[in-house]
Amino acid sequence: MARLIVLGSGGPVPNKERFGSAYILESGDARVMVDCGPAAVYKMAKLGIHPVEISHLFLTHHHFDHMADLGTFLLTRWDHSTGSEAPLQVFGPPNTREIVERLIGENGAFAFDLRARTEHHLSKTMHELRGGSLPRPEPQVEAKDVGAGVLVDVPGLRVTAAQTEHVQPFHESLAYRIDTDETAVVFTGDAQPCDHIVELAQGASTLVSLCGNFQSKLQERGVEQGQTGTLGAAELAAEVGVEQLLLVHMSTDLTAERERALREIGAVYGRDVVVTDEMQSYELSGLRESGAAAAAQFDHPHIARH
Ligand SMILES: [Zn+2]
Repeated sequence: MARLIVLGSGGPVPNKERFGSAYILESGDARVMVDCGPAAVYKMAKLGIHPVEISHLFLTHHHFDHMADLGTFLLTRWDHSTGSEAPLQVFGPPNTREIVERLIGENGAFAFDLRARTEHHLSKTMHELRGGSLPRPEPQVEAKDVGAGVLVDVPGLRVTAAQTEHVQPFHESLAYRIDTDETAVVFTGDAQPCDHIVELAQGASTLVSLCGNFQSKLQERGVEQGQTGTLGAAELAAEVGVEQLLLVHMSTDLTAERERALREIGAVYGRDVVVTDEMQSYELSGLRESGAAAAAQFDHPHIARH
């Protein structure tokens, strides 16, 4: 059974319940990660998962709540690696490659420590004790700047990206669709509902959608553009006809009134809706028989789209 592990289901403001975005999708042999927000690696460790077990990381955009733990992720994966693992593949919008380079590249922030851990006998011995051999290999990371299209297509795992609208021109942003032998999941990232996401999600089983706040609060505050609230998530899920809507990236306004949020969404989208919590895993709906045919007729969205 495919499952989604929610490591981070909040935004940039930390609170007792949630902080930042980070998710792991497990299905068959695939174990891939979407976003790497604050404390993602520590949360993984608490669940008994180590970065070496992750083969691919997909960044939706470069706001810090989605990638602040990237350095920790890359370094701990390298530090624990014996050199036998496949290189980590990192995908994200433009600047992804440069960000990785600025962290662990030759002149990156961690170049001094990489040298220390590669050359000091203490670190070399620890590496050998873990099963590695000398000289210690450099971090094996393939980072790519990508746009819309198919990014990965191997047996049991196909990943497709679509361009979304969030805070351009400062950051480009992507939604990802992950198809496995068991499920098809779309991650909106931080974005307003748009036709690109609708197209990407055709026939998908599960939508993992940003749900920043009640739509009315976003409207009142004049911050509706570039993000999604309750009504936007509900309309998007109804329009593409997914079996399951997992809400993520929620504010305390919304989690304090879960029932009201679920009622508001339920009035538009009548299937399975979950307000996700961190450190929890969720069983994902199986593959749909016929994607497009199952989509609800939804011709008049309330939310303005581009
Ligand atoms: Zn965010």
